[in-house]
Amino acid sequence: MVDEPLIRVADVEKVYKTGDVEVRALRGVSLDVRPGEFVAIMGSSGSGKSTLMNLLGCLDRPTAGSYRLAGREVARMNKNELAEVRSEILGFVFQSFNLLARTSALENVELPLVYRGVGGAERHRRAKHALERVGLGARLDHTPAQLSGGQQQRVAIARALVGDPKVILADEPTGNLDSQTSVDVMALFQELGQAGITIVLVTHEPDIAECASRVVVVKDGLIVTDRRQEPRPARAASTASAEVHP
Ligand code: ADP
Ligand code: MG
Repeated sequence: MVDEPLIRVADVEKVYKTGDVEVRALRGVSLDVRPGEFVAIMGSSGSGKSTLMNLLGCLDRPTAGSYRLAGREVARMNKNELAEVRSEILGFVFQSFNLLARTSALENVELPLVYRGVGGAERHRRAKHALERVGLGARLDHTPAQLSGGQQQRVAIARALVGDPKVILADEPTGNLDSQTSVDVMALFQELGQAGITIVLVTHEPDIAECASRVVVVKDGLIVTDRRQEPRPARAASTASAEVHP
């Protein structure tokens, strides 16, 4: 188990069929990710990044090939099994935050636990802890409209964290943020990475990709570059936020 990668994608293909038109969105992708790696996925629009993320996130199944996640073959699982794997192992962060409006930060973060049937008090405790972890311990009652874009994205990251995931999948998480706020969010991802969470993040921005420990470039449904690198610290000294509790 120690040597098995957390993510093992082997010869994965994905063909979308619409009517009699076929789009080969992935044409034989192989990718191993070890626990604690921070992978940035890059590539031009239409190259297959979102398709790959949907597969990694167990939101869709490959047409061919194998995907082992945490030692389990998920490529042929049914919808219920995929949902179970998602809630057990994965956390998701999106470009558009996807928070419920008129709903407090705390309730937004509790939501994944509601679906899992975790009781009220335990939910509250865990959601509060997740919000403290992203530096929002003093904003529990704020609704999205009362928070900045960067704070909303941190609520979304807390929501991804609350289920104690092994992997966080983030599709353009800084796409709607200004550059200073992007730095804050990337510093937070780097902290989570140092805490042992595996991160796979799609980005268009080279600056953002520099913060990862590995860069994978996708082109026309194939991986054309895969290199490890010394990550650039998003922030010189991690002052992440005074509110982060140990
Ligand atoms: P990226 O995220 O890199 O922009 P996508 O993975 O979204 O690329 O798309 C890869 C290719 O697959 C594109 O040609 C796109 O048009 C096609 N595609 C993506 N999703 C679907 C779908 N649900 N049905 C049909 N074609 C799709
Ligand atoms: Mg995309």
